[in-house]
Amino acid sequence: MENTNEMMLEFDSRSCNEGFARVAVAAFCTQLNPTLEEVADIKTAVSEAITNAVIHGYENQVRKIRIECRIVGQDLYVTVIDHGKGIPDVRKAMEPLYTTKPELDRSGMGFAFMEAFMDEIAVASQPGEGTEVHMKKRIGCGSRPFA
Ligand code: ATP
Ligand code: MG
Repeated sequence: MENTNEMMLEFDSRSCNEGFARVAVAAFCTQLNPTLEEVADIKTAVSEAITNAVIHGYENQVRKIRIECRIVGQDLYVTVIDHGKGIPDVRKAMEPLYTTKPELDRSGMGFAFMEAFMDEIAVASQPGEGTEVHMKKRIGCGSRPFA
């Protein structure tokens, strides 16, 4: 389609890669002329999904994380994929304050942030197979008087 644009990124599930990966997604979406706030929202959501893949999906084993980004019109779609241990009960996992790693000082707010900062989020997961976090955000539709 004429007004779509896609990119993919695959990298080792090391926590040191989280910073560059969220910046890569943010850089990709600048073609939509986002506000600083929209860029910050996207970075936060992507960062939470990547951190989850690193610490929960792979439990700090080094495997691959894949990010698929697609722009359709003014909509940004981001999918963060791991092939780690998966989530047995996605509904429960997405409840605010639910965490399976309280001993690591996790607060259980990652999914809540993704929901707050993106327009849509859908999680597909299979225990033993991995997890896909699909997120969508419409960009550039807030008040931008001088745009
Ligand atoms: P916080 O994000 O606040 O540090 P958290 O990571 O535990 O804490 P969420 O990000 O909301 O909280 O995730 C909730 C729970 O969902 C996690 O504790 C974990 O059990 C599960 N989970 C999330 N992402 C994955 C994943 N990629 N693979 C396996 N389990 C996951
Ligand atoms: Mg988290």
